Amino acid sequence: MTATVSRTLAERIEDLLPQTQCTKCGYPACRPYADAIAAGKANYNQCPPGGAEGIARLAALLGKPVIPLDTTHGVERARPVAVIDENVCIGCTLCMQACPVDAIVGAAKQMHTVIAELCTGCDLCVPPCPVDCIAMVPVTGERTGWNAWGQEEADAARARHNRRMTRLARERAAAEARASARQASRAAQAEREASPVAEAGAQPPAAPVASEDPEAKKRAIIQAALERARKKKEEMAKLGTAPQNTEHVSAAVQAQIDETEARRRRLGLTGDEDTACTDDGDKTA
Ligand code: SF4
Ligand code: SF4
Ligand code: SF4
Repeated sequence: MTATVSRTLAERIEDLLPQTQCTKCGYPACRPYADAIAAGKANYNQCPPGGAEGIARLAALLGKPVIPLDTTHGVERARPVAVIDENVCIGCTLCMQACPVDAIVGAAKQMHTVIAELCTGCDLCVPPCPVDCIAMVPVTGERTGWNAWGQEEADAARARHNRRMTRLARERAAAEARASARQASRAAQAEREASPVAEAGAQPPAAPVASEDPEAKKRAIIQAALERARKKKEEMAKLGTAPQNTEHVSAAVQAQIDETEARRRRLGLTGDEDTACTDDGDKTA
């Protein structure tokens, strides 16, 4: 309930602000300043473009006294309009990026121009210009504050600012989506490169079955190896390429054969049974 009342108050405060979006109040735009006043975090005399009249309007809404403008935020002045010296402009686009109401037109490396009717006089385009070719020219004579800026202009500036913020949010979201897509693509590429089997188009090895008995799996591998060795021995025997020099071997070789046979007997392996050694040194028949 309190939040709803506060929100409504913030909206009503915003309606009373001049909407130049100049940030002189210390907030990034008029709406955040309205939120801060409604929340009791900011005083209602921090808006130079609104000037004395603006403070009086806010004081009436808030039921508070009219107080002087806090000049640490700036002074009330005749409303200026930005004018670009087109002979000096280098077309860097920095002023366009700074303008909160899209009042500047131009393209990269081309002359830029301010649309005077849309300019709120916020000054924000001046600091970024690298060649100091933007001048703020007063256009309202002696008239200052709300005497130099009507409600219709404020409403139009508010709408333009809101459209700009929506557009920027959309562009940011699109840029983030593109960055995410690029990142995902790079990750997928790295994964493909790290998997030569997959890169070569071969089927990836089947995932191990968690419930499979590891001992049974080991026995199966050994059995398959024994079978391959047996077949190879048979093929070599048929081709006559089996070892021929098993008779009259040297004493050293015979000693090795004897030692192997003794080990086979200790392990309970006899006759023509084959043996195989697993990676971890286990032996089995
Ligand atoms: S006009 Fe400028 S100083 Fe006034 S509320 Fe808006 S941003 Fe703040
Ligand atoms: S042209 Fe400059 S002074 Fe005018 S609204 Fe844009 S940023 Fe502000
Ligand atoms: S910042 Fe200055 S130089 Fe750059 S485009 Fe704007 S006016 Fe031209």
